[in-house]
Amino acid sequence: MMRVAVVGAGIVGLSTAFALRRRGADVTVLESGPPGGGQSAGRGRIFRHAHADPRLVAQVVRSRSLWREWEDDLGVELVAPDGAVAIGDGVGSKLETLAQFPDAPARPLSRDELRERLPLLADYDGPAMLDVHGGAIRTRAAITALTDRLARAVEADHVLAVRRLDDGSVEIRTGTSSRAYDHVVLCAGRGTAALAGAVGMELPVELGAHVRLTFEVVHGPDGPGGPLPTFQDGSGAFGETGVYASPYPGSGHLAVGLSGHTPARPDGAVERPDELAALADRTVAYVRRALPGLRPDPVDHVHCWVTALPWGEDGVGIWSEDGVSAVAGHNLFKQAPVLGDALATTALTGSIPDDWSHTAELGRGE
Ligand SMILES: Cc1cc2nc3c(=O)[nH]c(=O)nc-3n(C[C@H](O)[C@H](O)[C@H](O)COP(=O)(O)OP(=O)(O)OC[C@H]3O[C@@H](n4cnc5c(N)ncnc54)[C@H](O)[C@@H]3O)c2cc1C
Repeated sequence: MMRVAVVGAGIVGLSTAFALRRRGADVTVLESGPPGGGQSAGRGRIFRHAHADPRLVAQVVRSRSLWREWEDDLGVELVAPDGAVAIGDGVGSKLETLAQFPDAPARPLSRDELRERLPLLADYDGPAMLDVHGGAIRTRAAITALTDRLARAVEADHVLAVRRLDDGSVEIRTGTSSRAYDHVVLCAGRGTAALAGAVGMELPVELGAHVRLTFEVVHGPDGPGGPLPTFQDGSGAFGETGVYASPYPGSGHLAVGLSGHTPARPDGAVERPDELAALADRTVAYVRRALPGLRPDPVDHVHCWVTALPWGEDGVGIWSEDGVSAVAGHNLFKQAPVLGDALATTALTGSIPDDWSHTAELGRGE
């Protein structure tokens, strides 16, 4: 049985370990903090099909069906069935791209339909669309169900060093152990580039810091009442052009963020921390203008690292050499099942499935 170590129990590491286990590998996940405590933290993410790179759309379509399969297997809802709404001038090209994918139905929304689906939005009369099978990812449910299923395979330990041995195996030194594996997969989020660099793989990760705020939905006679879709605003109608929002389970809260981030150095120093505060202030100001159905005082903040690749906001890639594989990219939650599957294939066969190699620059042009 092939022995594989996965470093990191965020959604990507857990998905990879789950795929490896299903294919009969002897898998160990090493995680220095609580599972899902890194970039995968928080209670919701957007599942959307629309991307500029049609190859990524195809992968996300596969991912949506894997999420469904996991829901059946794990017995828990993982993607809410309430759709993903987007507004702004980009809607036309998104609908054009999605028209090539019959398994990702999407359609324009009239002003009235938009108001019905998203009653907490201020009046808007511009291009709008619904991605029918998009929706809020139940991030906590996913992390918990995968961690539970992997059970004792998830070990609490910090990986200090990775080293190739002469017999072809790969050694991992942690805080409390030294063990050799047939293959090591680095899914350590912000920690991946450093671990990969030590075994000669240079990942061009651009590190940044991001903030997202959570707001309470105003319930009452004029409140939304029912389940909410996820929301992306690229319109500029309310003073910002890159806004995303994702409802928490029960739709009592909405997490809202501006898509920007502030740069950080590879050692993690945030160069301009005041920009993080400014992003938070702009988010609150946006909510006051655009989302009168929310109480404008945030109830919590999620601060997190962004690990982007130079070819696009949604860029993702796998590197693999002599028993060590690594993954990097941004906005990976939605495609974690299919990305984990690709990483499992890479670990078990030594070759990266088409499209996922970093040389393919998947997610280019976002
Ligand atoms: C606010 C916000 C909003 C987002 N919105 C979306 C969205 O709408 N849709 C979407 O698809 N994606 C979204 N993303 C991106 C998505 O959440 C991330 O791409 C994804 O969670 C990354 O998961 P990961 O497993 O690669 O990394 P992480 O979750 O960071 O996991 C890496 C793990 O490795 C561990 N680790 C690191 N170093 C070591 C070490 N040396 N030894 C042991 N363990 C180690 C860390 O503790 C961590 O738990 C968003 C991200 C944020 C922060």
